[in-house]
Amino acid sequence: MVEPTPPERDRRFDERDTMFARMELVPGSPQYEDYYSRRPDARPVDDRIRTQPRLLRPGGTHYDPEITRQAEEFFRAIDEIEVRETVLREWSERLRSAGNPTSTIKELLLSQGAVTAGCTALDERFVYTHKGRFPEDYGREIDLDHPSAIVFLVEMDFDEMQWAPKAETIRESARQYYRAARISMVLEKVLRATGHAAKAHYDAHYDLVLPPLAVAAGLGELGRNNILIADRFGSRVRIGAVTTDFPVEYDEPVSLGADALCGVCLKCAENCPSRSLSLSEKVDVKGVRKWPTRVEACYAYWRRVGTDCGVCMASCPFSHRDNRFHNFVRWMIRRFGVTRRPAIFLENLFYGRRWKPR
Ligand code: SF4
Ligand code: SF4
Repeated sequence: MVEPTPPERDRRFDERDTMFARMELVPGSPQYEDYYSRRPDARPVDDRIRTQPRLLRPGGTHYDPEITRQAEEFFRAIDEIEVRETVLREWSERLRSAGNPTSTIKELLLSQGAVTAGCTALDERFVYTHKGRFPEDYGREIDLDHPSAIVFLVEMDFDEMQWAPKAETIRESARQYYRAARISMVLEKVLRATGHAAKAHYDAHYDLVLPPLAVAAGLGELGRNNILIADRFGSRVRIGAVTTDFPVEYDEPVSLGADALCGVCLKCAENCPSRSLSLSEKVDVKGVRKWPTRVEACYAYWRRVGTDCGVCMASCPFSHRDNRFHNFVRWMIRRFGVTRRPAIFLENLFYGRRWKPR
């Protein structure tokens, strides 16, 4: 039997359904009443999670006042980012006279701290239907008519991620959210200076679901952990994006062998402290074939420990250091399917099957 295709609108995600948006709902507020009148099934579990300490607040088992203070400074600094006039002038002039504007845009992104970048058509399925994070615009319909998305990655530091799920990981997340925000704002302003529409999508200000767009832009594959797996960095990345009407050349999706390796690896799912990741097959989520994640269980664990965990990011065999040896192994996995099982065997032998934080 042929499955009916859901209407295009039903295939889009609503930001109000994300855990971050749900956890911003204040009991008794109009937004709280509105959301749970439409999603009564989510209310008991969300109310239970609300009884736990908030992220970056005392009470979590890995709470550390000094590291938390540093993390909060990065998050706070995002609101104060200013793009220097000299940077804006230099890059808008270079872009106006560029023979290959797409390369110039990527050069700009790398010069600002991105590790890789790609371009794709903006697939409407990955644009949220409604805003959900802040009471000011909760429920506002998102109308984003930019044809293209420029997507880039920043690297999460390898050594910092070895602490997962301790406090150091949330400090590293905050640092990279800040970096991605600053880079996206630079590009947004440069594109606008050339007379084009552009919008930066960064921490808490996303109109987009970024991982599938990064896949479409040729930056990697979606792993069993539901995080992007990128070449050279594995899951140790954060994604930033700018949507625009600037004419860019699109990249093609790439195969790193990750999808196939995830089929036999399972390391992230076995090490997930909240058992949120799937040990079985992929399912269809709004037309996207992926491994499901129990997001409520994952987020509840974050609140319990007071950090954003990161075990599934750090324990992934693709997340080893960006060096000659590991890049050679990544290349073998990509090129030769027969190497995948031996690679997992050696991974477990040398690094252990169980994740041990530093
Ligand atoms: S740990 Fe293994 S199963 Fe999980 S995302 Fe990485 S390669 Fe895939
Ligand atoms: S962040 Fe932690 S709790 Fe959440 S899915 Fe990953 S390993 Fe599991």
